[in-house]
Amino acid sequence: MVNNNHTVHIVVIGGSYGGIACVNKLQHDLPRDLDVAITLVESHDARYHCVASYRALVQKDFAKNLWIPYTNVFPKGSPHKVVRGTVKSIFYDHVLLAADKPSELTPPNGDATCDPQRINFDYLVIATGSMVPSPAKWRVNSSAEGLMLMDKTREYIQNSDRIVVVGGGACGVELCGEIKYAFPSKAVTLIHRSASLVDYPRYPQSFKDEARRYLEKYGVQVILNESADIEGLSRENSVQKAERTIILKESNRTIQSDLQFFSTGMSVDTGFLSTLRPCLSHGEVGQEAKDAFNPDKLLHPHTRAILVRSTLQLEHDGFPHIFAIGDVSNADPVPTSMSAIAAGETAARNIIKLIKKEAKKRDGSHDKIELCEEMDGYLCRSWNKLEDYAPIQPLMVLAMNPTGGVCHLPVLGTWFGNLGAWLVKSNDLFSGRFWKEMKMPRP
Ligand SMILES: Cc1cc2nc3c(=O)[nH]c(=O)nc-3n(C[C@H](O)[C@H](O)[C@H](O)COP(=O)(O)OP(=O)(O)OC[C@H]3O[C@@H](n4cnc5c(N)ncnc54)[C@H](O)[C@@H]3O)c2cc1C
Repeated sequence: MVNNNHTVHIVVIGGSYGGIACVNKLQHDLPRDLDVAITLVESHDARYHCVASYRALVQKDFAKNLWIPYTNVFPKGSPHKVVRGTVKSIFYDHVLLAADKPSELTPPNGDATCDPQRINFDYLVIATGSMVPSPAKWRVNSSAEGLMLMDKTREYIQNSDRIVVVGGGACGVELCGEIKYAFPSKAVTLIHRSASLVDYPRYPQSFKDEARRYLEKYGVQVILNESADIEGLSRENSVQKAERTIILKESNRTIQSDLQFFSTGMSVDTGFLSTLRPCLSHGEVGQEAKDAFNPDKLLHPHTRAILVRSTLQLEHDGFPHIFAIGDVSNADPVPTSMSAIAAGETAARNIIKLIKKEAKKRDGSHDKIELCEEMDGYLCRSWNKLEDYAPIQPLMVLAMNPTGGVCHLPVLGTWFGNLGAWLVKSNDLFSGRFWKEMKMPRP
């Protein structure tokens, strides 16, 4: 896997919760004597701290926390770099970026090809996350555009009286909570298809009931076991400022509304894997197997998330050097930023083990026993056995407003009342933590 000049190139795609945790862990743990260059590829000009979206939606001065510059991710003069661009295709040993958005720092990795759209790698971490309907996340070309759309949506709320949110997952619940707290006189209605809000596996009923009770206490109207098809309102077009009579499908009841949010349906875009094939030159697969390889097999048939092993490597013997973490992978039953961070750190530790193993092999210190074990599969059972990623314990904090919310914590269980949520998250929505992680002074 390691190239001839012995500089090991690690490419991380996606500079958010998982990708940044991975990059930071690599920088911290990589032995100084290893010749490694890390390239972080990210579509946006700054990191979007989506966890803080809804507070920024109702509180203009909070929006400054949302977009964190990449300026200090790597120390000046280091061999590492951040490249702005969108990865469109992944191959065995390189990625290609979209042609319409040339990378800012080129040529990446000092590639012989000098193709600004091509970045070679020895190890790859895919941390491209998920899409959630805006205003949770935005499909934008720049942070300035994201801020402008946030301002526009805030104005919509200010100029509306009867707000309807469709979808009572964590996002819908937090969205309703923040709007109702900031604008108590506005009518806020949450329509949810199933019998409980935040109806995720591994979370107790007490947590789901408490989320509902909390919203109702603040005056949000919660309608369960109902759905509504609102013309034009969809995952892609998730905010609509329109006077409407909304008909509930089950009961035929009607609700008057002048602003609607669609807040359901996390999706992942993994189309870039369609170009991936195992490599012949490494003798790991035959031509027949290469021709027969179907990259679709690397994806979950329903969610299209990337299937990974417990080590976070792709679920196929041909790609021991490619990892997927966070929302884009199937590593966790309920993807969260905390699990993306934990997976990013595990992937970093495993890559370091693989690099050390390659280095040992190259300088001849790899003994015979280890080589035998290696033939048994890349997941060597010797001193450098790769680490298994353990999905984190169910942990969720619903920040409904600046003073509190509802939380479910490992060991402690569901916490009633505001204190737990305020202590853990509601106060600043982890903004301080993530600005610090990016080595940036808080604005
Ligand atoms: C409103 C809201 C509140 C939340 N609150 C919490 C919470 O309190 N606690 C918690 O644990 N979780 C929370 N979550 C969930 C959490 O935000 C996600 O689980 C987390 O964002 C996943 O991180 P990630 O790094 O996998 O992906 P993402 O955060 O989705 O980041 C992916 C990154 O990859 C980039 N990218 C995507 N495709 C490409 C490409 N092709 N080329 C280059 N770059 C690309 C994107 O621009 C982005 O920067 C919340 C989510 C939302 C929306």
